[in-house]
Amino acid sequence: MSQISLNFIAISVFLMTFSILLGPLINLSPTIPALTTLTVLSVASIDSFICHSQGSKLVLDGIANFSPKHRERIIHHEAGHFLVAYLLGFQVLNYTLTAWEAWRQKEPGQGGVTVDDRQLFNELDERTLDTHIFDRYCTICMAGIVAEKLVFQDVMGGLDDRQKLAKVLQVSGFPESAYLQKQRFHSLQAQNLLQENWSAYQGLVDAMGKRLSVSECIQTIEVYLPQK
Ligand SMILES: [Zn+2]
Repeated sequence: MSQISLNFIAISVFLMTFSILLGPLINLSPTIPALTTLTVLSVASIDSFICHSQGSKLVLDGIANFSPKHRERIIHHEAGHFLVAYLLGFQVLNYTLTAWEAWRQKEPGQGGVTVDDRQLFNELDERTLDTHIFDRYCTICMAGIVAEKLVFQDVMGGLDDRQKLAKVLQVSGFPESAYLQKQRFHSLQAQNLLQENWSAYQGLVDAMGKRLSVSECIQTIEVYLPQK
């Protein structure tokens, strides 16, 4: 069961306890909190086991997006992935900034930048992996976390990114003891790319905040990049 569903269950248990304690004072029938909790537990279980927690993600993400600070953080995080993917020659196919957008566009999770990674996964499947493409992909994975760190000095997102990186490292045969070192190495690569192209990054943050299309975002990046 995911952390999100467990949080829901913890909240419902807390509310039930609270309502049982306060119920007699406000003449609340004990049946109401019991039925409510049963409903929440059933919905959380169905969501977790059948819908892969997408329902809870949508609700929590909807609540979190009322906060402008949360929204800003997501945009800065995703712009990090987007710019580094662009600079490293991966085609950006799409981006979403909320779980709602991701759900509407049939993307998994809480939103993010989708890159064309077919070549990488074909090579992983066929065990003909080109280390150059693999290294670039790992750097893109770490770029969201790095962008958050550079802008906000701390990191709140990125669990999915670390899991994604761990998955490709595992598939390509890296021992678990090397994961941390790989995270650090690719974070440093991403940091260098973002710092060297900081004005393009800021332009992209602005463009994504206005929900411009992928091609308009790329045009924005290219305005800021030094002419080759
Ligand atoms: Zn990310």
